[in-house]
Amino acid sequence: MTPEELEAMRECVEATTEGPWEDRTDDLTDEVYVVHDREQVLFVASCGGKEDPRVSADAVFISTARTNVPRLLAEVERLRSVCDELTRAYNLAADRFMDVTATANRLQARLAKVRALHQPERFSPGGSIHCTTCGKVEAGGVYLGQWPCPTIQAIDGCVH
Ligand SMILES: [Zn+2]
Repeated sequence: MTPEELEAMRECVEATTEGPWEDRTDDLTDEVYVVHDREQVLFVASCGGKEDPRVSADAVFISTARTNVPRLLAEVERLRSVCDELTRAYNLAADRFMDVTATANRLQARLAKVRALHQPERFSPGGSIHCTTCGKVEAGGVYLGQWPCPTIQAIDGCVH
């Protein structure tokens, strides 16, 4: 339903006689009708004879519509406002999610480069495993360092 259609409905309701309206049945004629002023019996609509059950239903519908339609229009307006608010919040969250995802992807790429620099390597057959970057060869061919090296331990969460 477009805003113009809602506005047309609102104008239609506001142009009618002020509510509330009431459905009544004339005890003498069995005619069902809708009035907008109970004291003066000012007619809104005559619905027909009460022998047809739809006539009473029509009268109830017409009389309650004067009150219910403005309430429905207000509810539609409220829900549309909530929907707009939720849409704005969703779009903001989606933008933030995309920012966080882009940052996470950048950090993953940097982490992969750091991991590529810190690979396990056995410097001598049967020797211990050291990091390709952190391992050091001291004089006399002694290899120093540990695996996983402190950098890999930090990446893997082993260092607190
Ligand atoms: Zn290392």
